[in-house]
Order: sequence, then structure tokens, then C-alpha cells
Amino acid sequence: MVLDLAQRISADYKGRDLVLIGVLKGSFIFLSDLIRQLTIPVKIDFVQASSYGNDTQSCGSIRLLKGVDLNIRGKDVLAVEDIVDTGLTIRWIIDYLMSFQPRSVTVCTLIDKQERREVDVPIAYTGHAAGRGFLVGYGLDYAEQYRHLPEIYHLNL
Ligand code: 5GP
Repeated sequence: MVLDLAQRISADYKGRDLVLIGVLKGSFIFLSDLIRQLTIPVKIDFVQASSYGNDTQSCGSIRLLKGVDLNIRGKDVLAVEDIVDTGLTIRWIIDYLMSFQPRSVTVCTLIDKQERREVDVPIAYTGHAAGRGFLVGYGLDYAEQYRHLPEIYHLNL
């Protein structure tokens, strides 16, 4: 799955000036695996946003904890997310990145919970589709636990 995404991204952005923006913290393992399969040069940066809510659900009120460091003006930007759920977080991040006037902003997500979407967000690259369960492992946490698990698991809450 990661290899397939990396091949598509490498083909789509060949000859372009691509900056991958990992959305912390959940995407860090996915991003690490993805970039090692790319066949094009890229730059890497990170953003971190926190949504006020409980441990398993975001509520749409988003706060920026870490912004971009690189100059992305005029660059092609690919935001790499762990999970797109309601879409509120990535919508906010897309708008934030757009404020720097990049050439383009697209989204790559490890997991897409499309049936829970509340705002329309275009997702160019999706690893897996998922339903309503809560997932942990491979970078994904529950209250900062389980990120280290090598695979993705459903958490029985
Ligand atoms: P959204 O704003 O799209 O509703 O929420 C996206 C964020 O919520 C993800 O980046 C992730 O941090 C968190 N999230 C949503 N579903 C899950 C899940 O099943 N497991 C974990 N660990 N985080 C989730």
C-alpha cells in the first residue's frame, strides 16, 4: 500500500518542487515509510494542530501547535495525514497552508473514514478506507498510548 502510494506520488510530481508536510503526531511512521519509497527529491516539514475535544473525537475548534518552517510559496505541497475523519482538521490545515500561497496543496492520508465526513475535502491519495471504529498503532494513539505498535488495531473502547 505505501509503495503503491509512493509510486503514484513520484509519477505525479516528477520534475516538480514538492514539499511533504507531515501532520503530527499520528503520521510520523506513515510519512517515514512513504518518503523512503519515493523516487523523486522532496523536502519535508511538519505541522501540528490540536483540536479541543475528548480523546476519541475532534470538535472542530482547532489550534496550531507547530507551523511550517520552510518557505512553501510557489511550491507543490502534499499534506500527509494519519486519519481523515470528520475532515475538520485537514480542512483547517489546507486553509492554513494555502495562506502561504503555494502552487498547490493536496492531501495524502493513511486512513480515510469517509462515512464520518462533515466537511468536503478532496483527498488525492488514500491508503486504507475505514469505518467507525477507533484505530491505534503505526503512529496512531489513544491518549498517547499505542503509537509504537507495528500494525494498526481496532481499540475496543
Ligand atoms: P477530523 O478532524 O477529521 O475529525 O479528525 C482527524 C484526527 O482525529 C486525526 O488526525 C486523528 O488524530 C484523530 N482520529 C480520528 N479517528 C481516529 C482513530 O480512529 N484513531 C486515532 N488514533 N485517531 C483518530
